[in-house]
Amino acid sequence: MSLSPERTVAELRELQELTGDENGAQRVAWTETWERARAWLREKVAPTGAEEEIDEAANQWFTLPGASERALLLGGHIDSVPNGGWLDGCLDVLAGLEVLRRLAEEGTPPLTVRLVNWADEEGARFGRSLFGSSAAAGSMNDQDELRERRDADGIALPAALAEHGVDLDGALEARGQLAGAAAYLELHIEQGPVLESLDLPLGVVLGTFGVERHLVTFRGQAAHAGSTPMDKRRDALAGAAKLELELREIARRVGGGAVCTMGGVVTRPGIVTSVVETAECLLDQRHLDATWLAEMLSNAEAASRRFAHEENVEVDWDKIWSIEPIPFDERLIELADEAIMEVAGSSHRLPSGPLHDAAEVARAGIPTVMLFVQSLRGLSHTKLEDTKEEHLELAVQALDKLTTKALEAFA
Ligand SMILES: [Zn+2]
Repeated sequence: MSLSPERTVAELRELQELTGDENGAQRVAWTETWERARAWLREKVAPTGAEEEIDEAANQWFTLPGASERALLLGGHIDSVPNGGWLDGCLDVLAGLEVLRRLAEEGTPPLTVRLVNWADEEGARFGRSLFGSSAAAGSMNDQDELRERRDADGIALPAALAEHGVDLDGALEARGQLAGAAAYLELHIEQGPVLESLDLPLGVVLGTFGVERHLVTFRGQAAHAGSTPMDKRRDALAGAAKLELELREIARRVGGGAVCTMGGVVTRPGIVTSVVETAECLLDQRHLDATWLAEMLSNAEAASRRFAHEENVEVDWDKIWSIEPIPFDERLIELADEAIMEVAGSSHRLPSGPLHDAAEVARAGIPTVMLFVQSLRGLSHTKLEDTKEEHLELAVQALDKLTTKALEAFA
């Protein structure tokens, strides 16, 4: 019984049958359907002999002992968003399972190999992404805020977790799981259009973008739309509009995959008969390089001040949230490139816009890399999410080759 990538595709369909409906995947974390998926995974892994352990944050680990206790980790997440796709997260877990089967059959690997199904990557029910991986990585520090969170039915987060055997404060104990980790590998669908546009099945992920989110408020003067001449206006929306168009120039100048988005503008008083007094703009900027990200931010700030001056309005900046770029391990990036070249003939390196569990593991100082497989039409978090079966099979092969290379390199 050697590696069978077709089996992974068949099992993805089986999981979708078991836990999805006509609207898509329904494996939202901390629900019965999610537990059903975890039980199903348990049954699938059992024949490999890998031992199961559920940690304090509900991460599901399967350990295949190797010659060394140091461990190579393969990870993913079986939870989905409501009405999600058939691949996001579970491809990673099921491809890892297939690699685990191959290794178990061949005997004792040089390193211990652990497959991890992270708990609640999506944060779909309580709006807190990367729950299990951040607990394991030791970066979770928002317990007090999480205690107050409720789902759409008013159920508090601690109560929902307790139903699945998790104590919110105790979840931090999961950090012991990464103690002996040598490296971490994760395969994921791209969830974007880049690989498809290049006509490539697979790519190596360089790291996850740093993000700067700000609320930018322009303040002018409300005035009658009929009686105020054009040259006497202090129109806050004019400043916002200039900034929105300048963002394209900033992203183009900085390059390297830079993206800037004005995701929303709220204007007040917001009536047809008044010049806009305040325009509140939601700004999101992302880059893989911290220096360039800082450059983008200062460019946008300078531009906003220039436009405020031109329009005779004021501008204020308030930070909403930010995170540093998280680069992946250079040695593993090389190995991943080689693995992809071997199975697909050509490779491509790209950053990840979305965060993934891999980013948490990398933040904890463990050498990490991800593989992306092409997403059709770049769609994800919808039942329309799809990837060609032949590409899924190549992805399983690439993860398998990368595992072999990592076992040699880190043994
Ligand atoms: Zn995912």
